Amino acid sequence: MQAIGIDIGGTKIAGGVVTELGEIVTERRVPTPAGDSAAIVDAVVEMVRALQAEHGDVVAAGVAAPGFIDAAQSTVYYTPNIAWRNEPLRARLSERLDLHITIDNDANAAGWAEFRFGAGRLASDMTMLTIGTGVGGAIVAQDRLLRGGFGTGGELGHMRVVPGGLPCGCGARGCIEQYGSGRALLRMAGEVADRPGAGAALAAVREAKGELTGHDVSELMKAGDPGALEALRELGGWLGQAAASLSAVLDPQVFVFGGGVAQSGELLLAPVRQAYLEHLPARGYHPVPEFVIAELVNDAGVVGAADLARLHATGL
Ligand code: BGC
Ligand code: ZN
Repeated sequence: MQAIGIDIGGTKIAGGVVTELGEIVTERRVPTPAGDSAAIVDAVVEMVRALQAEHGDVVAAGVAAPGFIDAAQSTVYYTPNIAWRNEPLRARLSERLDLHITIDNDANAAGWAEFRFGAGRLASDMTMLTIGTGVGGAIVAQDRLLRGGFGTGGELGHMRVVPGGLPCGCGARGCIEQYGSGRALLRMAGEVADRPGAGAALAAVREAKGELTGHDVSELMKAGDPGALEALRELGGWLGQAAASLSAVLDPQVFVFGGGVAQSGELLLAPVRQAYLEHLPARGYHPVPEFVIAELVNDAGVVGAADLARLHATGL
C-alpha cells in the first residue's frame, strides 16, 4: 500500500508517493510560500491533490512539520523557526482533503525513515540529529519511535548545552540548536573570518559578496580551507558533547546525522567523535556507538512521513 509523504521545510516543501519498501514513486517540490501559515496549508493541499491524482491508490498522507507536535498528531504547538502557535494543522488539511492525514515532526519523520530503510536499519536503538536551519532530533528506543507523554519528545535541538547562553527560537537560552545548526555554523564561520590567520579566505568571500552563505562555507570546507574547517570543528565539538550526554540517557548503538550540514560527511563526524569520546560518561568502559551520515539525504522526511502515516492509517 502506498502513502503520500510531505515534508515542510524552511525553504521548500517536498512531497512524494512512497511504497511500503520506502521507495519514492513520484516526487514534487515547491518553494515554501513566505508569509502566513494559510499559504503553506494551501501549498500542501495542492501537492497532496496532485499526487493523489497521479496515484489514486494511496492509503494516507503524512505531513512532517518543523516543530513541537501534540500526542494526537493533530496540532502544532510551536515552531521555533516559522510562526505556528497551537496550529490545528491536521484539521485544516483534513477538511480539504479526502484522505487519512497525520502530522509528525520533521526530524521524527526523517529519523523513522533512516531507522526503517537507511543508516539505522540494523539498530534497535538509534538517535538522529538533523543539522539544518535548526537542530532536529529523533529517538528510536527498542525499535519504537519515542514520542514522549505529550507528543513532543525527541526535541533534541533544545537541550541546553550552555547555561545562560544564546537566546533560541524556542524561548529558552543556550540550546544546542544555537551551537550545532547550519545557522550556528555560519555564525562561527563569521567569527573565524573576523580573526586574523585561518579566516582569510572566509573574510575574502564575505568582503566580495557582502555576506557569507551556507553554500560559500560548504564550498570552502570541500576545498580544505582551514578557516571553514575550524568552524566545522567547533560545531562538531558541540554536537559530540551533546551526543555524550544523550548516550547517558538513551544509549543508542548508532547516532545518525542528517540535514544539509551533514553532507560534509567525515569532516563533521571526526570532531563529533572526538568530542564524544572526551565527554562520554564512563569513558573507556562504555561501549562506543557508531556515528554515521544519513543515507536517505533529502528524501528522509518524505519517506518517513509516508511510512508513519501508512502505519497509523492501517493501525499497525
Ligand atoms: C524544531 C524541531 C525541528 C527542528 C528541525 C527545531 O527548531 O524545534 O521541531 O525538528 O528544528 O527542523
Ligand atoms: Zn531552543
